[in-house]
Amino acid sequence: MLKKLYLVPLDEQSRGISDWLGAKLMGVFQLKVNSGLVAKMPEEAYNPSRDAYFSSVILNKLQFLKASEDEFLVAITDEDLFTPTTDYLYSSSDKLAGVAIVSTQRLKPEYYGLPQSTEVLRSRTMKKVVHEIGHILGLENCEDSNCIMHSSKEVSDIDIQSDRFCQRCKVVLTIPSKVSKY
Ligand SMILES: [Zn+2]
Ligand SMILES: [Zn+2]
Repeated sequence: MLKKLYLVPLDEQSRGISDWLGAKLMGVFQLKVNSGLVAKMPEEAYNPSRDAYFSSVILNKLQFLKASEDEFLVAITDEDLFTPTTDYLYSSSDKLAGVAIVSTQRLKPEYYGLPQSTEVLRSRTMKKVVHEIGHILGLENCEDSNCIMHSSKEVSDIDIQSDRFCQRCKVVLTIPSKVSKY
């Protein structure tokens, strides 16, 4: 049976890209993609002095939306994310809980004063979502700067990254024991 992936927009702005991702992702993973869930950003994750949301608190909340261990959940938000040790992050995941969060805030060209581009935003968001699903499926960050599992610090890193797994990561992904271990 195919594992089920829920794509959950956490705000109105993220709905469009979430629907687009749902359609795209089915071609990447052997997953059944569902976009019927509705959720909101947990208020308790908000830090007013940073004007951002603590990613771990969000991930903790998200796992309760899943009905079973066989399901994965990736939430999309337009709000900024942080952890106590980082100023910001594009995305984060909890492998054991099977959940991930991706923020489009800093993936948008207009965040950097550049012209708006749906194409650029979609490409970057897709890469971050696939990267986090890779983590949920058991992959670590990869040394290969061209691999989708390479850790990106700047948006320019995401742009030069391919949208594929390198051979090494692909092998790990196809070992059933690794995948079902989650
Ligand atoms: Zn990573
Ligand atoms: Zn790799």
